[in-house]
Amino acid sequence: MGSVLCPACSSSGVLLDFHVHTIPYFGEVMESILVCKDCNYRHVDVQILENKEPCRYILEVSCEEDMSVRVVRSSMGRIIIPELGVEISPGGDSQGFISNIEGVLDRVSMAVRTATHWSDDEKKKMKAEMLLGRIDDIKEGKEKVTVIIEDTSGNSAIISDKAIKEKI
Ligand SMILES: [Zn+2]
Repeated sequence: MGSVLCPACSSSGVLLDFHVHTIPYFGEVMESILVCKDCNYRHVDVQILENKEPCRYILEVSCEEDMSVRVVRSSMGRIIIPELGVEISPGGDSQGFISNIEGVLDRVSMAVRTATHWSDDEKKKMKAEMLLGRIDDIKEGKEKVTVIIEDTSGNSAIISDKAIKEKI
């Protein structure tokens, strides 16, 4: 992999690591991790190896058990939670991950915290606090939301019998 250059600093001192994860009742997902020795840039992405096609997954999250539903999100995956007005778009330095619904909600919480941490806008801060409170309720199964993931590369998925899968 000597021809790979760091997307951040163009150095050729890049390490690429691949791991194949076998997810029960789903298939194999390959995780690729790129680390630059010069600038410490790190990029993670995932790729579904079997039966992939551009699609949208829709899951109604309604109880605590749903927190453990497996989620594969590639850097091309768009995550939408309409009830919360949340959308995580692909592009930029978008990273892939293998996680679960709880992990997705944690990422949303973290993004909300980061976005308001340095803000002096009291209204914005109050809105953020409310959103974080709702996310806690969702984790405890007290509020229902819909989690949607769409991916034109077909490398994202919500792995549950409850999830609706649509071709896009
Ligand atoms: Zn670099």
